[in-house]
Amino acid sequence: MWTTARTPIFDNHIHLRAEFQGVAAAKAFEQAGGTAMLLTHTPYDDVPIRRGDDFAVAYDKTLAMADAVRSTTSLQVFVALGPYPVEFLALREAIGPQPAMEAMRGGIDEAARHIAEGRAIAFGEIGRPHFPVAADAISACNDALEYAMRRARELGCAVVLHTEDPTPQTFAEFAEIASRAGLAADRIVKHHSTPLTRPEDTHGVVPSILAKEDLVKTALRGSPRFLLETDYIDDPRRPGAVLGPATVPRKTRAWLESGVLKEDEAWRIHKDLPERTYRIEFRE
Ligand SMILES: [Zn+2]
Repeated sequence: MWTTARTPIFDNHIHLRAEFQGVAAAKAFEQAGGTAMLLTHTPYDDVPIRRGDDFAVAYDKTLAMADAVRSTTSLQVFVALGPYPVEFLALREAIGPQPAMEAMRGGIDEAARHIAEGRAIAFGEIGRPHFPVAADAISACNDALEYAMRRARELGCAVVLHTEDPTPQTFAEFAEIASRAGLAADRIVKHHSTPLTRPEDTHGVVPSILAKEDLVKTALRGSPRFLLETDYIDDPRRPGAVLGPATVPRKTRAWLESGVLKEDEAWRIHKDLPERTYRIEFRE
């Protein structure tokens, strides 16, 4: 039965901040039936990035947040670390294109160290800004992305992408960058994806879709090969910007009851696909 206590419910993209809801948001997720999450790094106002070394301090905040949740809940907390693409633009302004690129690579290398030592399972969220920027900025971001994919191949880990909303052509481009880096497309996750799920549209990349009914219905018409996320940002200055932390378990249950989602589809979304994509194992 789906309603047993240990049924996996995975939120593939969530941000928590100790100074805001933090652990309380994780508890709300757990109380609603959530069992595992990918806690994803994003920049902190109090840790400005001026060079590569600064990423270490910022990552430590995210890793400490993960530990705080583990010690106060039964949740499985997995972590993704990496230099947020929008950060690159400010860095370029501040220190120039070449030093900014070196800083981004430094941020990738620092994330790689945590992945190699088991504290994080993926690079993320990395890629390029979600809004239009100059062509040379895009190409620099693509270079940094390819570098991260090479490191991911070496480490045997996944990469979580932050980019503009993808079309089938965008997915093809991601798969091509991955193939140049020697990384399999099924280790690439497109966070905040459009609901494209047919293999001919995704080119093997794994879409991660906001837990909204219209998106999920559209996605399921293609295939149940997608992940669910809230992209909860835990920032009181942007209330309602994204879904609340309990949304994935609540909606999953509601969709199972209303028949929007079938039980075998839910198992694929919440267990098989995340376990295979990230090479992780959910506790029974
Ligand atoms: Zn995010």
